[in-house]
Amino acid sequence: MNSGEIIISVKELTKVYDIGEVKVHALRGVNMNIQDGEFVAIMGHSGSGKSTLMNIIGCLDLPTSGEYLLDGVNVKEMSKDQLARLRNRKIGFVFQTFNLLARTSALENVELPLLYNPDLQAKERKEKAMNALEMVGLVDWQHHYPNQLSGGQQQRIAIARSLVNDPVIILADEPTGNLDTRTSFEVMEIFQELNSRGITIALVTHEADISQFAARNVIFRDGRIIKEKLVTGIKNARVELEALPKEEDIFDSNLSI
Ligand code: ADP
Ligand code: MG
Repeated sequence: MNSGEIIISVKELTKVYDIGEVKVHALRGVNMNIQDGEFVAIMGHSGSGKSTLMNIIGCLDLPTSGEYLLDGVNVKEMSKDQLARLRNRKIGFVFQTFNLLARTSALENVELPLLYNPDLQAKERKEKAMNALEMVGLVDWQHHYPNQLSGGQQQRIAIARSLVNDPVIILADEPTGNLDTRTSFEVMEIFQELNSRGITIALVTHEADISQFAARNVIFRDGRIIKEKLVTGIKNARVELEALPKEEDIFDSNLSI
């Protein structure tokens, strides 16, 4: 699904990290648009600037130069408070390491971004969080703590948390980096499902097979986009999951060795 409206626009974006004597040029003039309803995978070797771009797009960091429009708003003109509010209301984050609060139930983790909204009553918060948990298929796990959940389940809780504010975009930085193939595909199945419901997703990965679940690939090298392509024959995560060998089969073949 893709309405064609541009919700993320960066122009000639640069980022220089100034660490003492050394200057690291993490982004060297990046131009990129993301349209409403798109599913983009951002690829490239480690150190090529992917996370730096995600952090700027997610208003966690500011560029050294260049322009960034989020949903038509020029981020440079915002105060710190406005930026924090923009980030909380418009962006959903998913990280490689899940970043859930440990001594907090799944439901409370999902509710967390809503606590910054004083207009919401506890009942509405819970309702929204339960809806988000339903979208990732984990309603029955609402009272569990992160250490009682598998890696895949924890990432699904993190995805529910990213969804709970109805963000304009979900930014996922290597969300399958800590997961095995099957669990990665399960997470991609959720992203594809959310995208089919109209949610815009930008996902960083350095795994080629994961990038094929997105509709467009943007490839970075040394702080620049070196290639962009539409994915022909986008893979369907549900189909790929069914094609994976079942655990019993792996077990059986191990026994017969
Ligand atoms: P990627 O996500 O593609 O692996 P990053 O955006 O994390 O790449 O990093 C791009 C470059 O910027 C790398 O050389 C990295 O070492 C450097 N870098 C990233 N974050 C910082 C920081 N906070 N301070 C200094 N250098 C950084
Ligand atoms: Mg990174």
